[in-house]
Amino acid sequence: MNRLYNFCAGPAALPEAVLFKAQNELLDWQQRGLSVMEMSHRSAEFVSIAETAEADLRELMGISEDYAVLFLQGGATQQFSAVPLNLLNGKSRANYVNTGQWSKKAIQEAGRYCDVNVVASSENDHFSSIPAFNSWEVDEEAAYLHYTPNETIGGVEFFWTPEVSMPLVADMSSTILSRPIEVDKFGVIYAGAQKNIGPSGLTIVIVRKDLLGHAESMTPAMLNYQVHADAGSMSNTPPAYGWYMAGLVFQWIKQAGGLTAIAEMNQRKANKLYHFIDTNDFYANPVELASRSSMNVPFTLADDALDKAFLTQSEAAGLLNLKGHRSVGGMRASIYNAVSEDAVDALLAFMADFAQRNG
Ligand SMILES: *Cc1c(COP(=O)(O)O)cnc(C)c1O
Repeated sequence: MNRLYNFCAGPAALPEAVLFKAQNELLDWQQRGLSVMEMSHRSAEFVSIAETAEADLRELMGISEDYAVLFLQGGATQQFSAVPLNLLNGKSRANYVNTGQWSKKAIQEAGRYCDVNVVASSENDHFSSIPAFNSWEVDEEAAYLHYTPNETIGGVEFFWTPEVSMPLVADMSSTILSRPIEVDKFGVIYAGAQKNIGPSGLTIVIVRKDLLGHAESMTPAMLNYQVHADAGSMSNTPPAYGWYMAGLVFQWIKQAGGLTAIAEMNQRKANKLYHFIDTNDFYANPVELASRSSMNVPFTLADDALDKAFLTQSEAAGLLNLKGHRSVGGMRASIYNAVSEDAVDALLAFMADFAQRNG
């Protein structure tokens, strides 16, 4: 076995301890004679896996009983439709903040269901900053406000929470569980699992219970939060194995000391990487200092003709998936929870060496 350092934006690295545990339990989960993949989702065994995972997530994030926690399929992208269908509640307008490629996709999809009020956009700035809150043009009558706390592609992250009078909706796919947040400030939080939670195929939705029960009448049952909340996310077959894997990841985070400890580690990793980029003329990161993502770090080389060599050589050095998103080019290192400080150190050593040889 030869596991390399993986900087993929998603599906992303998983904690090795979690993979070992899953391997150990793969064929025969806790002496029940079958794997989790082969269990009825209604069985006592799977229900205990599901309930433990939910309880651990609630404990880690401090999610109160005022919220339902849903374990769904369809990815974060499906939530781009589910959010307006569940939250418009008879209104025809919703507020959206446009800070990058994922915001844009959410806006585009919401446009099928309502009039989208783009309260602020950093598109003219090539999505390298977050528009100051006092410049936002929030429609106070709109049903909700949606934003993307971490733009996975542009590497732009909010380190503050917008204070608005309507339900706040956040696509936290690439920032959830990276640090503590105040769940009570949000109406809906959703996240595809494949960045910081587990394998792809699972999507977590955390929804304030007073927002349930108002879905548009034509909402497909599978997009209706109330249907899933009433059925404990088992209205149909849930993404059972992903749910189990997420549960193992939650236990791993608890053992690591919870979100405060995880956040400290993430901050150290990100600081090291940005400090290196800022102090080495060969590399650059375009994002304004206050909004640099602690999870996704895009960077460019002094000469993009060297991009190919960088990627070939970094891969040969055991550093996988550093290619930037096709829409922005350059490089991107995603340093989610499961990417160790050792991985970041190995990346920095390679970057220093590459710059010296090519600078
Ligand atoms: C990855 C990602 C998505 C898309 O997630 P899917 O699960 O592939 O639908 C949406 N938003 C953000 C912020 C992401 O990082």
